[in-house]
Amino acid sequence: MTIAHPPLALLLDVDGPLASPVTRRVSADIIVNLIELVRRGIPVVFNTGRSDAFISEQLMHPMLQAGLPQGSVVHAICEKGAVWFSFTSEGPGPVHVDKSLAMPAEFGTGIRKLVANSYADYMFFDETKRAMVSVEQHIEVESGNYLAQQEKFDADALVLLAAHGLGAVRLEHRAPGSNGGVDYRVDPSIISTDIESVQLGKDLGASRAVELLAAQRIVPQAWRTVGDSRTDYAMADWLHHRDHCVKHVDVRPGEGVLAKPYPVQTAADLNLSDDVVNDFAGAAFLQFWLDGLAA
Ligand SMILES: [Mg+2]
Repeated sequence: MTIAHPPLALLLDVDGPLASPVTRRVSADIIVNLIELVRRGIPVVFNTGRSDAFISEQLMHPMLQAGLPQGSVVHAICEKGAVWFSFTSEGPGPVHVDKSLAMPAEFGTGIRKLVANSYADYMFFDETKRAMVSVEQHIEVESGNYLAQQEKFDADALVLLAAHGLGAVRLEHRAPGSNGGVDYRVDPSIISTDIESVQLGKDLGASRAVELLAAQRIVPQAWRTVGDSRTDYAMADWLHHRDHCVKHVDVRPGEGVLAKPYPVQTAADLNLSDDVVNDFAGAAFLQFWLDGLAA
């Protein structure tokens, strides 16, 4: 069997570049362009902190309804690499979970109670996660109100981690656990907080993406990674350090673009204005790559 070398492969964060941070949904034109890229032989891999259930609902089902080409495979790496599955026009394959990377179940129970007792007006416990423990902003809560409550919630979560003897890090703060180690991370985003193994990350997702394509005998000539957070650069870091050709797209560069040894692009590189961010910038790049293939 020969090895395929498509000109590009896409490794896409979901919240931000594809799903609107406001509606949490993926627009129809993004779905259409993802399908067209797949039809043109471009591997599309999602690399998200979201659950497999979220990806099924917001990406897989719309792509199947809009008509995924027969014989194509789309990979979804979920929960920052702890969970993954693939789908074809026939539907999803099995969901794989690396259980060694899961949070202890009793800790999840504690966070569910904490949310119900103290934070239910602002956020909800994500019941679809299999390895991470995640709490997300209610869409109707104003962002500033959420972020103020999130700070308190994150502090309570660190207290609960300590009570379970689990060492944890949150941004600059580090608290070793009863084994002396720091095995867990509290990771706030603009709409959620994830509590997870420190082994999870977009770099783990990138390694799984390369493995999943290699298993199909696909070795892309170049990668494009897309994200809206600083942690998303870890996908491109991982690929670059392993000598893959990669460019990273930052769709929310408001805090400044990081200096990297590989090219980093923003909507400005497509001659779009500064206010084109998130899924609008993501959609513009998908169109740009499609147009490039047509040339
Ligand atoms: Mg994101």
